[in-house]
Amino acid sequence: MKRTVKMIPPLASLGLLALAVLGCAQNPATGGSTFTGGLSQAQEIQIGRENHVKIIKEFGGVYGTPALKRYVSGIGQVLAKTSERPGLNFSFTVLNSSRINAFATPGGYVYITRGLMALADNEAQLAGVLAHEIGHITALHHAQRHGQALLANIGLATASIVGGRHAMQISQLGMVTLLQGFSRHNEYEADRLGIRYMSRVGFDPGAMAGFLSKLRSASRLSALHRGESPDKVDQFNYLATHPAPAARVKRALALARQGNVKNPITARRIYLSKLDGMLYGSDPKEGFIRGHAFLHPTLRFAFSVPEGFRLINSSKAVYAFGPNKSRIILDRPSKPTNGSMEHYVSRVWGGNMRLRNLETLSVNGLEAATATTQMKTNNGAFQARLTAFKINTKTIYRMIFLTADADTNRLATDLRRTTYSFRKLATAEAARLRPLILRIITVQRGDTVESLARRMPYSDYKLERFEVLNGISRKDQLRQGQQLKIVSTN
Ligand SMILES: [Zn+2]
Repeated sequence: MKRTVKMIPPLASLGLLALAVLGCAQNPATGGSTFTGGLSQAQEIQIGRENHVKIIKEFGGVYGTPALKRYVSGIGQVLAKTSERPGLNFSFTVLNSSRINAFATPGGYVYITRGLMALADNEAQLAGVLAHEIGHITALHHAQRHGQALLANIGLATASIVGGRHAMQISQLGMVTLLQGFSRHNEYEADRLGIRYMSRVGFDPGAMAGFLSKLRSASRLSALHRGESPDKVDQFNYLATHPAPAARVKRALALARQGNVKNPITARRIYLSKLDGMLYGSDPKEGFIRGHAFLHPTLRFAFSVPEGFRLINSSKAVYAFGPNKSRIILDRPSKPTNGSMEHYVSRVWGGNMRLRNLETLSVNGLEAATATTQMKTNNGAFQARLTAFKINTKTIYRMIFLTADADTNRLATDLRRTTYSFRKLATAEAARLRPLILRIITVQRGDTVESLARRMPYSDYKLERFEVLNGISRKDQLRQGQQLKIVSTN
């Protein structure tokens, strides 16, 4: 977003010259004269197609049964047919990621995660998300951003670029650029277009604002949950690319009131039936957090962290955030070693550090080695304990404990326990680890928000998680027969 704001003055000063060279078209969606960055529809489609496989890989693969894929795609196609680009071949993909996210790439490629589907309460909310992404594509927002990025690269002097060089610069921008957020103006425009498409199909246009509110409460919960973890752990979530300030919710509500839809479709019951049995949270191939333990049924290892530490799993490492900025980071180096763990810690990993207290350990039958060093960070001086565990010649895991100097002694026993908790998972134990799934339950007499929340298999924030998942409050009176989502292990 910063980048877009910065680019406005040079763009404006370029005036007609740049527009003439790089292309400017009347946009049927926005009605305005739109700067296209010189991208033709064929180039748009090419960019979208080239990144399709990479995006699927980055976000855990494609999720869902053929029926679920058909369901989501069907809603997307109906919306896209009402758009200003009905001839463009849109595709809608559900990604196997527990993150809450949705985005579009040029040429008609729209993506949503199963994490986002789990959060939505009805078909109209899902339609709102898809319609918003279709809006980014019909309004040529990518082309505008690519155009700006191109201008940033080439500057004024080379405004005469054509052909091959132009194409090369586009591909160099890569996936990161594609997934970057849009400007606030673009977000509002995509909301406005999305509400237009929803209304044309007959969906409740108020569902767009409804889902934005749900996103806001989900992000408050994850902030609470994350404690003091760095934002980068969650850099690919929806709110990072689609900020939903209160003002955006308000605008979406006002727009929805203008849209005159008779008997608007919400389709809650159908939607919830599609969610029943859906994988929730981590896929077994990413590993599970269970209270203070981390268990990886596919890579077959487990360890636990002390009370007061909160575990967070990411694709690169497992983090545990503790008191006073203390933390534990576990990862798997890409280059293992043939030598001993003592050799690995002292020569390979800690080769450039001043190590102390180097020793070899045996941890649950695994060869391990550990040493300490001092580290200066932005947050002050820390003691770092480096520990490496050898599974076999191809696989080692390494753990870093960072503790502020003042806390090192106090936390020493806890962290020692964490070291000695690292173990291989037996086949039978790995097989018993079941992923969490979403179940749709019918409220019975006597059920309350609190009593249902207590059934969720979490050690913390049960009530808050249940409230956010269902978009309800603990003060709400439940109706007998009402359907709600719950997280379950079976
Ligand atoms: Zn957006």
